[in-house]
Amino acid sequence: MKNSKPTTLPTLSFAGGTKAITLTPVVGIPQREYAEEFIPGEEALTDGELRVTVLGSGNPWPTRAQSSASVLVEVGNAERDILVFDLGTGSLANYASLKLPVNALNKVFITHLHADHMGDILTLSGSFSKVGRADGPVYVWGPSGTEPRLGTRHFCEAIEEALAWDTAAGNGAINPDSMKIVGSEFDFSKTQVVYEKNGVKVTSFPVVHCISGAVGYRLDFAGLSFGFSGDARPCWPLVRACEGVDVLIHECFPPAAALAAASGLSIERATIALNAAHTSPKVAGKIFNLVKPRVAGLWHTLLSPQVVSMLFAELGEVYTGPVVQTQDLTVINITKTAIVSRQAKVQDQLPPIAGQQRAVFKPVAVPPPEWWAEAIIPFD
Ligand SMILES: [Zn+2]
Ligand SMILES: [Zn+2]
Repeated sequence: MKNSKPTTLPTLSFAGGTKAITLTPVVGIPQREYAEEFIPGEEALTDGELRVTVLGSGNPWPTRAQSSASVLVEVGNAERDILVFDLGTGSLANYASLKLPVNALNKVFITHLHADHMGDILTLSGSFSKVGRADGPVYVWGPSGTEPRLGTRHFCEAIEEALAWDTAAGNGAINPDSMKIVGSEFDFSKTQVVYEKNGVKVTSFPVVHCISGAVGYRLDFAGLSFGFSGDARPCWPLVRACEGVDVLIHECFPPAAALAAASGLSIERATIALNAAHTSPKVAGKIFNLVKPRVAGLWHTLLSPQVVSMLFAELGEVYTGPVVQTQDLTVINITKTAIVSRQAKVQDQLPPIAGQQRAVFKPVAVPPPEWWAEAIIPFD
């Protein structure tokens, strides 16, 4: 991949584009060759590298073009750890296109409990345990709320409970441990380290979004760093926690009139949503000026060609650093010398890759209910 700057923004991937939406696909000097498009399975992560892949770039209205909120981070440590920040509806279909092991996806960091940020947790627990994760639970980290029922622990217990029939139906065939959700709830109001293992450190910080109990995250590994706003209005805890990160992905909503036109919301409703909960392109630019990331990413944006050109125009009035408007399957490789932003070229229909199992489970057949004897038609 050349260090040449495109002069116009690439086409959106759902409209046939093959490149990341940025005028700076390569920032710095890469130490290895990167293919023009990221092709899953054909490009190993190098030691000490981070690879950030947007699994869901969109909104509460998931479409075939944009799944709801989710960002995956692959770590170039010995364990090749995978962490995912939010897991909105549809994001697991994008994970399934990356040729990564099913059972490697067991560490989820939730920014807040809006459904568009956690909708696929039910699938990760209930369904991924049937296609590869037979070796243990899903681990979920997330913030407390202002009362226990608004916190991550209650959410995890409730999802586990909601999967009671699914879990019972898998009795004998499926490792019950793989149906467990282990929730780690932390104080939403503090900036603090919430995870530290294998050279990876994750710090949470409070953000301003709707009500108390929303956070953003910063990940540090081997001198590299990645910041993630989740959903947020501009706020100091994020700026303080993320100052100088290599990549900051910050949410960005189009201005109210454009949001209303694109989403079908009334202008009043769009204005309230934006003012109470979200960040406009110009304000995102001001945040980037304070944080000064090597590369800035816009995210959680309802995308159309009109919106993209408007975003870049508005942002460009206040911020002139490198910026990527993320889409589903935008891939950002972070190293000390370069940050490379591309789109993945994926296949739509792939079999699951279970991954190396960490625990052995032998499935057994359990006797059927007695009433089946009379009900079943013995065609076989
Ligand atoms: Zn939200
Ligand atoms: Zn959201």
